[in-house]
Amino acid sequence: MGFFSLKAKCSICGKDIGLNRYRLSKSKEWICPRCIKLAGGPKYVDVYHMTSEDIKKQIEDPSLRVNCCPNILPEKERRIVQNRKAGIACCPKCGSQSIQAYKKGFSAGKAAVGAYLVGPLGIAAGGIGSKKTVVVCLNCGHKWKL
Ligand SMILES: [Zn+2]
Ligand SMILES: [Zn+2]
Repeated sequence: MGFFSLKAKCSICGKDIGLNRYRLSKSKEWICPRCIKLAGGPKYVDVYHMTSEDIKKQIEDPSLRVNCCPNILPEKERRIVQNRKAGIACCPKCGSQSIQAYKKGFSAGKAAVGAYLVGPLGIAAGGIGSKKTVVVCLNCGHKWKL
């Protein structure tokens, strides 16, 4: 005990689980994806406030299921949601904030002069305004229009 282990046991079904597991922040327990599913899926399991006891009850009695918003998202999607909430523009694909906006119509040569890097907030606030703005993610290369 006392060291981080890759192995954990599901607090509900008792099975050994690997890294594909959910952490209950309140009770510091691990839950396997199968038990999350039995309880109605990630949408209905509030891992931040529920304990394995609560989830067990919910598995036995589906009427207890409440659609809770802080559902569990993979790290990547969570980052994107957090950025959106904070009004920070980010790549819709990878969540990176390293994005660059270009005015459409610039050729590659002109882009070197005409391209401008804007702060993430600038994009979010529509600071660039025009619908002809193309944003490129510097992390994954994804391109999209504003
Ligand atoms: Zn389980
Ligand atoms: Zn990206």
